[in-house]
Amino acid sequence: MTDTAQLNSTDQVIDELRDWLSSNWDPDLTVAEWWERLGLAGWSAPTLPTNAYGRGLSRNDGVRVAQEIERFGALGAPAGLGLLLAAPTIATHGTQEQVDTYVRDIVIGQKSWCQLFSEPAAGSDLAGLQTRAVRDGDEWIVNGQKVWTSGGQHSNLGMLLARTNPEVPKHQGITYFALEMIQPGVEIRPLREMTGRALFNEVFMTDARVANDALIGGENNGWAVANTTLANERAGLGSGGGSGAGGSVLPGTVGGGLDRRAGDYGSGARPNASDGKSKSGSKRKEDGGEDGAMVRALSGGPKLLVELAKSNGSVTDPNVRQGIAQLYTWGELGRFNGLRLKAVKSGGGDIPGMPNISKLSMSHIMRLTRDLGLQISGAAGMLHGYNQKDRSALESATGNTLVGFVTEMALFAQAPSIYGGTDQVQRNIIGERVLGLPKEPNNDRTTPFSELAKNV
Ligand SMILES: Cc1cc2nc3c(=O)[nH]c(=O)nc-3n(C[C@H](O)[C@H](O)[C@H](O)COP(=O)(O)OP(=O)(O)OC[C@H]3O[C@@H](n4cnc5c(N)ncnc54)[C@H](O)[C@@H]3O)c2cc1C
Repeated sequence: MTDTAQLNSTDQVIDELRDWLSSNWDPDLTVAEWWERLGLAGWSAPTLPTNAYGRGLSRNDGVRVAQEIERFGALGAPAGLGLLLAAPTIATHGTQEQVDTYVRDIVIGQKSWCQLFSEPAAGSDLAGLQTRAVRDGDEWIVNGQKVWTSGGQHSNLGMLLARTNPEVPKHQGITYFALEMIQPGVEIRPLREMTGRALFNEVFMTDARVANDALIGGENNGWAVANTTLANERAGLGSGGGSGAGGSVLPGTVGGGLDRRAGDYGSGARPNASDGKSKSGSKRKEDGGEDGAMVRALSGGPKLLVELAKSNGSVTDPNVRQGIAQLYTWGELGRFNGLRLKAVKSGGGDIPGMPNISKLSMSHIMRLTRDLGLQISGAAGMLHGYNQKDRSALESATGNTLVGFVTEMALFAQAPSIYGGTDQVQRNIIGERVLGLPKEPNNDRTTPFSELAKNV
């Protein structure tokens, strides 16, 4: 396809979406009713294939669709790890029955998901995980502990990696399940971070049960399935797609947002900075804050920092100007890389390592935004509001609504270089799989897991 043909097809998609939104968006629908319309029309997850409630669009076009829904003022797709990770993984490895069970509920926002991968002794070395699943008739019994489980406290289901055969090398004995989070064998304990929020949790599984029908992609084939999840995580986070326009209301039946009025959450209902109320007068939930900070930093960081620098006069400082230009340049490089990847993919090719490079760029942009934001904020950047009341007090003390955004983002800026695989791990992958450098010598591809030395 030529560049012009691609642009035309993107424009056609956006025209079709605008027509669809004009006839379908109704702010008086409940969130659940609106998400059902959006999802079943293929606009919640347009990058999924058509048999999985999508439209087979490229990632860039998917981002354009989300932006257009937001620009229109409608509530965006049910954001979260279901849409970002579980749906594309199940669309790739699941049966059509599993697609119709799980992916449908994700795109219409009925079920929310978390990612039960990391364990206390298995993060970077994910394949060393020790949670066990043992077959019991039509079910599996699960025992073990996960940690850093983002959104676990709001989730209906978890993407669970468990060891199903310890007598083979570690990558070969793992299975991927869709675990029901609300059951007696699952205990979820939130962990509070230095941001003041509790984004993630410890999850303890004690004789938890999962049906054999909920096994995704074949017994002991979980490593391949997990890699699809991880590739989507790196690419999605790298493009800032971790949240989506619907980030202000949680999907799923645990979050309690489904019965609310959709129009109170669309981008046409922006909260007033001083009181946290939307234009329509309803109080918005304060969830998804960190992810929101990340997306704002990635998409609107330079603009926000220019506003902040103008407000306190530091915009004339050559160092600040240089930092803003640097940040803008990194954003543009990411955009060009996205376009380059799209062009190569439309010709049937690929650029190896691009998800890893996107993830590394995202971490770098977050750090640049943090450093520059704190530099511009000066002494005010040492203060942080941990709740809405403190934030309002800070705003009136500093006379600036943007400083709170900077400190929130600065406290969270450490996280992107860790989650979804640390920066060091991304570099290892690029070195080994893209540049062909030799792997670190070890015996874990040949020795049964049960005979390997364990971290704990
Ligand atoms: C905000 C946040 C949200 C998260 N959400 C989730 C979630 O929802 N679900 C989930 O399953 N997990 C989640 N995680 C966990 C995340 O995936 C892990 O923290 C990450 O994989 C690193 O693992 P670890 O913390 O065990 O660190 P370790 O693996 O112990 O690493 C410690 C340090 O050693 C370095 N290191 C380790 N191995 C190597 C190597 N081979 N070469 C070079 N350096 C190395 C690392 O880069 C790091 O600096 C989240 C983490 C964060 C911070």
